[in-house]
Amino acid sequence: PATVVAIDGPAGTGKSSVSRMLADRVGAQYLDTGAMYRAASLAVLRSGIPVDDGSAVADLVDTLSIDLRDGPDGTVVALDGEDVSTAIRADDVTDAVSAVAANPRVRARMVDLQRRVAGGRFVVVEGRDIGTVVFPDAELKVFLTATPDERARRRHRQNRAAGRDSDLAQVLASVNRRDHLDSTRAASPLRRAEDAVEFDTSDLTVEQVLTGLIELVDQ
Ligand code: C5P
Repeated sequence: PATVVAIDGPAGTGKSSVSRMLADRVGAQYLDTGAMYRAASLAVLRSGIPVDDGSAVADLVDTLSIDLRDGPDGTVVALDGEDVSTAIRADDVTDAVSAVAANPRVRARMVDLQRRVAGGRFVVVEGRDIGTVVFPDAELKVFLTATPDERARRRHRQNRAAGRDSDLAQVLASVNRRDHLDSTRAASPLRRAEDAVEFDTSDLTVEQVLTGLIELVDQ
């Protein structure tokens, strides 16, 4: 059976940085499930299918090949063989992804894929429903939070560091909208698993969060 560390929480909590570094430090594989939903959303946008046409979206997503592998600068995402690692971070994908991720058939396919990728390995899996739905028996579950203002500031800084245009007020609106959609959808909404350890990262550095998590993994 897989040894799973599940890391869930809303956007901008530092989840991705911390999960990747944690996997590195403890010798586990890192799995970014948000990247899968982003790749699916990119394919939907490119196809011209309206994101709210549930059955057409799910039919399309069923045909896609989505592969993730670890690269030197983070996860490399291949959509039908094409490297879309940069394309999936674009604003239009970020704006569409919650609607695509609310589709129950899309989720069923992604969850299946995630379980197969993790299969039998030591993995740090990052997402929204990892501790509740994908790996409810995970050895360690972590739920990261931070205030909306702090989460928007982090996303804003990330955008600028990646050379993307970014407006703080717009980022705040987008983060709030996405969290609302992710936590109010019917299918596997974003929420803390009862047995998850919650970390408020608002006033913590990445290193501090990482140190706390390594202690938990070593326990
Ligand atoms: O983590 P990231 O911000 O890249 O996730 C993008 C989106 O994918 C989230 O806003 C959410 O709608 C969806 N998602 C999800 N379940 C996951 C991971 C991501 O619904 N396990």
